[in-house]
Amino acid sequence: MRVSSLYLTMPQDYQDQADYCNMVVIGFYSGSPESLLKTIQTIERRYGRDRSKEIQKGPRTLDIDILLFGEHVLCEESLIVPHERMIHRQFALVPLLELLPECTEPGTGIPYSDILEKIPDQGVKKVGNIYGY
Ligand code: ADP
Ligand code: MG
Repeated sequence: MRVSSLYLTMPQDYQDQADYCNMVVIGFYSGSPESLLKTIQTIERRYGRDRSKEIQKGPRTLDIDILLFGEHVLCEESLIVPHERMIHRQFALVPLLELLPECTEPGTGIPYSDILEKIPDQGVKKVGNIYGY
């Protein structure tokens, strides 16, 4: 239903690769978190993603992660929500807070804006949006 600006981000773990383009989207979804994960993995494959050919944390065509699923807290083998690493990632929190400045962490109620303040700068730059502005 809503999309953030696009942000250019330096690679975080495996450095020998191009910058990433990141954004956050918000939508309504009537299925389960598990079926959403299957759907986003189908979309990733449709856009050329083949995990068998990737270096871990290396370049990939498209990576769609579930940051939040309403107020749900899930800890399953294949799905952790809120996303495990989002509290360490400026490139996830900056676009999330652009859309939802008051957003708080499910379970703890801690504002993501407080969490973002404590993260060291990771070189996230707003570069426009999907509409070309
Ligand atoms: P990355 O950690 O860079 O996103 P992958 O996209 O290959 O790497 O994801 C690895 C696995 O992480 C997926 O197969 C999926 O089962 C699991 N996973 C756990 N929690 C989530 C989540 N919240 N969103 C997306 N994938 C998740
Ligand atoms: Mg992923």
